[in-house]
Amino acid sequence: MSNPSLLILPGDGIGPEVMAEVKRVIDWFGDKRGLAFDVSEDLVGGAAYDAHGTPLTDETMAKAQEVDAVLLGAVGGPKYDNLDFSVKPERGLLRLRKEMDLFSNLRPAQCFDALADFSSLKREVVAGLDIVIVRELTSGIYFGEPRGIIKEGNERVGINTQRYTESEIDRVARSAFELARKRGNKVCSMEKANVMESGILWREVVQKVHDEDYPDVELSHMYADAGAMQLCRWPKQFDVIVTDNLFGDLLSDAAAMLTGSLGMLPSASLGAPMANGRPKALYEPVHGSAPDIAGQGKANPIACILSFAMALRYSFDQGDEAKRIETAVEKVLADGLRTADLIGEEGVEPVSTRQMGDAILAALDASL
Ligand code: NAD
Repeated sequence: MSNPSLLILPGDGIGPEVMAEVKRVIDWFGDKRGLAFDVSEDLVGGAAYDAHGTPLTDETMAKAQEVDAVLLGAVGGPKYDNLDFSVKPERGLLRLRKEMDLFSNLRPAQCFDALADFSSLKREVVAGLDIVIVRELTSGIYFGEPRGIIKEGNERVGINTQRYTESEIDRVARSAFELARKRGNKVCSMEKANVMESGILWREVVQKVHDEDYPDVELSHMYADAGAMQLCRWPKQFDVIVTDNLFGDLLSDAAAMLTGSLGMLPSASLGAPMANGRPKALYEPVHGSAPDIAGQGKANPIACILSFAMALRYSFDQGDEAKRIETAVEKVLADGLRTADLIGEEGVEPVSTRQMGDAILAALDASL
């Protein structure tokens, strides 16, 4: 049987720097765990624009459709700010998401014990937190028609439309239930069924999918505003939260802040299953290309390394090996290693991107 395939798109700014550390972790799994991947690498974003005049070539797009998973660093930077909208680096990423039809966006909020004091909430509220927000990514109010700014009498009116079909809700609900089965087996669905018809339909369809195919998973429903409050009050009550595009946008950013630094946050965007049963998948850190620190060896590679851990868990059914990475990260943080973004108190000397990578590899070695 051939090895599973990975397409690596390092992108711009700190993207290539953090991805260099991920590549060493991927090699480690090949050498030490017999888990080899067929890895190919290509350009995206500004790097692709510089080489080809487009942020994503058709060839790279076709490759992304064929592989088992795509791993992306970050795109963008001031050098590209004045480009025409159609060739801006971000368009490369948007094209990947759109053409792969990645409708389910997984944003974990995981708080490593050693960083609990970094959160704006109290240590006991966030220490050990491990939740995932599943945000519907390809429909809802950001895409619904009619939209626009129209003239009505003497004034202008801004219009956006929240629109969800049953099948769109059905597929993202399934993705959340499948995810919950690999974790704490609990889903909380959030909408505004009290004031929105799309919310009523959302609640009905999620309940139906649950009752018919996932009765073993614990399901609850919550109005999204109450959910936002509960996320700040006691986030550990949740396991998987599933919600629409707009509420997911807000709730996942709020949840991200529970954990401290941007340099720690991975994400996954999943689509429909391919012929081999694996979902179409793109894994990437939540952070951008960080032009302010690019090229200085200061970037925290952990978000990108944890994105690879998500790939192991959700594309390759290697939950134990994903856990091995997360435990290695936990260990280096507990040992006091900090990249510059994780330094709160005076007197702690930051480590470089490479040193953090070295320490994680050493912790992986120690796990054998
Ligand atoms: P950013 O995430 O790049 O940086 C925000 C702040 O966090 C900066 O101070 C940066 O130094 C810091 N930071 C981010 N990641 C870090 C890491 N791994 N280690 C240490 N510090 C880290 O967001 P921004 O400054 O708003 O955007 C910069 C560029 O990135 C823009 O061109 C933007 O369009 C692009 N961007 C891309 C993505 C993506 O590729 N998915 C996401 C967001 C922004």
